[in-house]
Amino acid sequence: MSFRNLILTALFGVSAVFTQPADLILHHGKIVTVDPQFHIGDTIAVRGDRVIGVGSHSDIGKLAGPNTRQIDLKGKTVLPGLMDSHSHAVDASMYEFDHPVPDMETVADVLKYIHARAAVAREGDWVVLTQAFITRLRDQRFPTRAELDAAAPRNPVYFGTGPDASLNSLALKVSGIDKDFKITDGKPGRIEHDANGEPTGIIRSGSRLVKIHSGEKKPTEADRLQRLKMLLADYNTVGLTSISERDLGDDGIELYRRLHDAGELNCRVYVMYSVDAQMPLDQIQARMLKAAQSPLHRYNNMLWVRGTKSYMDGGMLTGSAYMLQPWGISKVYSITDPKYRGMRYIEAGKLYQMQKFALQHDLQFTAHSVGDGAVQGMIDGYSEVNNDFPVRAARPCITHANFMSAAMIQKMKELGIVLDLQPDWLWLDGATLRKQFGEERTAYFQPYKSLFDNGVMVGGGSDHMQKIGSL
Ligand SMILES: [Zn+2]
Ligand SMILES: [Zn+2]
Repeated sequence: MSFRNLILTALFGVSAVFTQPADLILHHGKIVTVDPQFHIGDTIAVRGDRVIGVGSHSDIGKLAGPNTRQIDLKGKTVLPGLMDSHSHAVDASMYEFDHPVPDMETVADVLKYIHARAAVAREGDWVVLTQAFITRLRDQRFPTRAELDAAAPRNPVYFGTGPDASLNSLALKVSGIDKDFKITDGKPGRIEHDANGEPTGIIRSGSRLVKIHSGEKKPTEADRLQRLKMLLADYNTVGLTSISERDLGDDGIELYRRLHDAGELNCRVYVMYSVDAQMPLDQIQARMLKAAQSPLHRYNNMLWVRGTKSYMDGGMLTGSAYMLQPWGISKVYSITDPKYRGMRYIEAGKLYQMQKFALQHDLQFTAHSVGDGAVQGMIDGYSEVNNDFPVRAARPCITHANFMSAAMIQKMKELGIVLDLQPDWLWLDGATLRKQFGEERTAYFQPYKSLFDNGVMVGGGSDHMQKIGSL
């Protein structure tokens, strides 16, 4: 029996350790423990921030003292708090700050929205839409440069889909992206061209090259706090009591810190601090050190800066995930190069240095790694660090890990690598991916059974990025 099972089993019933009366007793309900035996009791007793007993009212009721608050649940159900292992709550809470964004199912919906935004924008102001995923549109394609021109002739348009984007002619012009434009900053990025060498408007991993000037209203700190509180309250309504913020900077951490200090943080937050892997290694290490030395890096069961997050590759929704085999020519993803394998952002030597530095400083490390090429790269890096010191205790993580192989699963098991997966992508994107890659290459797309059979620990996360109330 594992240690964890032991604790849960001991909890079912009254633990002898607690002789002091309970602060709170909930009785005549259905208390679902989700322990290995799936015990269900009718009464639960709580003291401080600990559950001190679950079971029958006749047993657990004895933990009541003169000052115990007792609530009759009248048959209602109590569940353990749910954890979302991947959220962007700070960003999601601000997504509709300026104006509501309707659900869009087709390219026509997208164009209609852009046209409507252009109608209320001043001439020259940008119309920006992010988080509309092309593979989830019924048409399964980018809106074209010409379509965006027709929808908003007087405004630059940025249609962002994950790390990639489609721009209209004015947006290209304002950003100085023409036939002769070359990426010269040494960072990742790819500009698609048509047969005449003209930019098609599709830019991969190049949002930094686009000179967006938004005319949208700017939030105050009070706005941001208020909206974040609203979103966390919304999470609570569906049972979420813990989230992992999987890419948070100083401003976001500060918002949580203020809520926590005010006693208003209603959700546990496990923070993965954002580290831009495109910076030089010494700057990366300085930033990691900042996280390691933060007072919030000390264990705290409400707000804990636990590790760092970087980006290994692009996305599977947009055709830039880094794969071991070529993606294959595709209309949906606008891929014309038969040898194209997607985009990898951190080369092996640097990745090893980053992983080692983070784990050495008691920081969990993770990187957005979608394709099997990226996942393999992460495993190779951890494997190399494991030659220097055992990595298991630091819970080395891989985020997304959508594609893998049986051999990779064995390595994860061997090294103690944990995963942060998004189960809803199975049904949202599985069919589109199977069309692109075929049966064989999708056999190990989010292979939960193989992972669980091998004892690989998997956190389930939504990757929530937009709107309050959309989860
Ligand atoms: Zn990601
Ligand atoms: Zn994410």
